Amino acid sequence: MASHEFLLPYPDLSVERAGNTGVDGVWHFDSGVPGRNVMISALVHGNELCGAWAIKDALALGLRPRRGTLTLVFANLGAFDTFDPAQHDKSRFLDQDMNRVWSADKLADPNTRERQRAVALRPFVEKADWLLDLHSMHEPCAPLLLTGMQPRNLELAREMGAPRHVIVDAGHKDGVRMRDFGRFGELEENGTRSLLIECGFHGALESRDVARDQVARFVKASGIVDDGDFPADWFMPLPAEQLAIQVTDAVVARSMDFTFSQDWQGLEELEKAGTVIGWSDGEPVVTPYDNCTLVMPSLRQLLPGVTVVRLARRVA
Ligand SMILES: [Zn+2]
Repeated sequence: MASHEFLLPYPDLSVERAGNTGVDGVWHFDSGVPGRNVMISALVHGNELCGAWAIKDALALGLRPRRGTLTLVFANLGAFDTFDPAQHDKSRFLDQDMNRVWSADKLADPNTRERQRAVALRPFVEKADWLLDLHSMHEPCAPLLLTGMQPRNLELAREMGAPRHVIVDAGHKDGVRMRDFGRFGELEENGTRSLLIECGFHGALESRDVARDQVARFVKASGIVDDGDFPADWFMPLPAEQLAIQVTDAVVARSMDFTFSQDWQGLEELEKAGTVIGWSDGEPVVTPYDNCTLVMPSLRQLLPGVTVVRLARRVA
């Protein structure tokens, strides 16, 4: 069983939080040469430290664009300031989830601290052509790169070559994520790219390595830096293959009588349709198609109506 122990240190941002734009936590570098406007964000959730480390490391490296511009954002510093490793979920946000407020109606009514912060960040998000948003997860899990439904983002994920698991996902019903805001949410090719990387468990040391790897691959692919501008140790080994999957189904518990047939860890790919993955009210729950992948199985919050696992199929 992977560890829930919180090993990743809390980064000291006392210098970095000033930024250089007049907006707290926002750094902007302009090469003065034509090229893409690239933005990397961290701490959209205050307890997701790996991205803050990666941006701190990029600043320490003196990373600058050779073409276009580079914007580095520590998003929810207010929530980050309340961080306590013993209760890290409590510093996810102050008033509301900052990754559900990215629509014109909510930003026009900034009645929470997260909306107010989003209003301050909005000009930078709107100016960005390429956006990489750095996150981490509640449970120990391999890294997941989320592309949304835009084929152009899946294409970029494949060009980056890592991580192994890429998820094509439709976002959330309860609010728009930053990576789906404005031009980023349009389905047709418009020159933008936006990806969200879940780097692993919040407290895992390796999540920082994943965040740095993704920053290096994304910025390199954007063309605003040259090969060699990132030290070789920013790149993790490439996976043997990438698996792009699309979530098709959510398995919802009907009652408290739900058990799994094995201690699934997530991301298992089950070869045959009809494989029993668990029992709901005594009836078998089976995979609906061949090569079905289990995404985030968990009985930790089992209640009637709660999703206990999602099912995903390979994207050709
Ligand atoms: Zn997050």
